[in-house]
Amino acid sequence: MTQRAMELSILRYRPEEDDKPWFQNYQVPCEEDWVVLDAINYVKDHLDSSLSYRWSCHMAVCGSCGMMINGDPALSCKTFIRDLRSGPVRIEPLANFPIERDLVVVMDDFMEKLQRVKPYMIRKTGKPLEEGEHLQSPAQLKKFKQYTLCINCACCYSACPQYALIPEFIGPAALALAHRYNQDSRDQGRDEREDVTASNEGVWDCSFAGACSDVCPKHVDPASAVQQMKIASTVDWFMRRLGLGGGKS
Ligand code: SF4
Repeated sequence: MTQRAMELSILRYRPEEDDKPWFQNYQVPCEEDWVVLDAINYVKDHLDSSLSYRWSCHMAVCGSCGMMINGDPALSCKTFIRDLRSGPVRIEPLANFPIERDLVVVMDDFMEKLQRVKPYMIRKTGKPLEEGEHLQSPAQLKKFKQYTLCINCACCYSACPQYALIPEFIGPAALALAHRYNQDSRDQGRDEREDVTASNEGVWDCSFAGACSDVCPKHVDPASAVQQMKIASTVDWFMRRLGLGGGKS
C-alpha cells in the first residue's frame, strides 16, 4: 500500500512540567487509507508513548476523539489524511475547553449543561401497565429522530462563537438534546425544560452563526433545533400572556 510521509504538529501540555502549551512535531509514514487517529496512534505506539488523547471506537460512534485538525473541530477517526492539504497537520485539543493534558480537555461544563436540560422522558400523566406501550407513528418519530444521533463529541461547542464569548451559554448539543425530547410525542416536559432552554443562557444566546451544524460529524443540525426552540418558546410566552397556557403537556 502507498505510504505518504506526514508531519504532525501536535500541541503538548503536561501541567506538572509545562508553563504553557507548545507544539511538538512528528514525522509519520502514513498509509493511503489512514485517518488522523491512525497517525496519532502511530506516534503513541512508535515515537512517543507520553502523548495523551482520548479515543475508543474508531468508527464515529463514541464521540471521544474530537480535536482541532488544522484549526477546525473534527473527529480524528473520520478525517482522512488524503483529504488534508499538504504540509504539516496541526493537531490541538478542542477549542473553548480547558486543557487537562496534551489533547485531553476538561468536559465538566459540557456534561453539566447536558444534565441541566433534563434529557430524559418526563411524564405528568401516568399510564397503567395493562394499557400497553406509548405507541408512536413513523411521522411522530421523524420529528425528533435526527436529534437522537448526537454522540456528545462537543465539536459544536468548539466551533460556536457564542460559547467562546459567553461560557454560560447552554450551547448547541445540550439544546438540540432538549429539543429531541420536546419533539417526542411521549414526552410532557417542555415547560419544565424551558426554565433553562428559554432563559438568557439558553436559545436566546444563540446568534445563529450555524458553525455548530457545519462541523457536526453526525448531521444533527443543532442550529436548526435551536431556531425551532426560539419559535416555540416565543409562542409559549404569548400563550401564557394571553392566559391560554403554553408549552407541551
Ligand atoms: Fe457532536 Fe453534533 Fe452532538 Fe455537537 S450535536 S456534540 S457536533 S454530534
